Amino acid sequence: MDKIRVGIFNLSSCEGCLVQILNLEDILLNILKTFEVECRVLGTIGKSEPYDIAFVEGSVMSIEDEMELKKIRGASRILVALGECACHGGNFLVKDFDVDEINEMFPGSQKWYSHPIERYVRVDYRIPGCPIDKEEFFTVFKSLLLEKFPEQASFTVCSECILKENSCLIEKGVACMGPITRGGCKAICPTFNRECYGCRGLNDDANIDGLLHTFKEKGISIQPYMLPSKKGEVKRS
Ligand code: SF4
Ligand code: SF4
Ligand code: SF4
Repeated sequence: MDKIRVGIFNLSSCEGCLVQILNLEDILLNILKTFEVECRVLGTIGKSEPYDIAFVEGSVMSIEDEMELKKIRGASRILVALGECACHGGNFLVKDFDVDEINEMFPGSQKWYSHPIERYVRVDYRIPGCPIDKEEFFTVFKSLLLEKFPEQASFTVCSECILKENSCLIEKGVACMGPITRGGCKAICPTFNRECYGCRGLNDDANIDGLLHTFKEKGISIQPYMLPSKKGEVKRS
């Protein structure tokens, strides 16, 4: 019987989500033994097309990315967007530079952009986060092998944060995006006293106006680009 074929690819990215997969260690070794896996970062470059499942990290920042992505889509039965960059356009460059600096880094080129992959191809499932959570990746992977697509969390980061009895950062004057961000990360940032910056994207019923009103009341200022993105929404262009 043919082995199930899995492709793990990256477009423009920092490869942090792939590092999370590497961090699976023994589980990853078992995956590599059981399935035919093509992944440049893992050093398993092979002729694995067509793919039963393809995971794509990174956003589209060039024509080359777009062409590569369309080729992957054409060769894959299930395509999964891996991480904030792939799901929402990402911000891996903006972590270190502001947008004007980035545009200066590419003189003479078209204006800098970073698009979610869903702008170019159909996406069957999204694993959000920057980086992704390795356990969530493995859970989703096992479900997809059974042709099941797990429900995305429908609660916010605040829900998990409150359950952990963390003291609220907004009350301390910090711009925390937890009230509008999709949960599922166990509120890891506020648990370590860092504001949520929305890496899992907007929750379905996110009340952005309500949060902005609260920030205003507390004297907290934010920029529009700090707000998390919706599924498939272009974040910056
Ligand atoms: S989602 Fe975050 S960790 Fe993953 S590739 Fe993008 S910037 Fe890196
Ligand atoms: S710290 Fe952030 S995530 Fe936690 S309850 Fe306050 S707003 Fe929500
Ligand atoms: S707390 Fe917010 S920024 Fe931190 S991992 Fe969760 S969603 Fe991402």
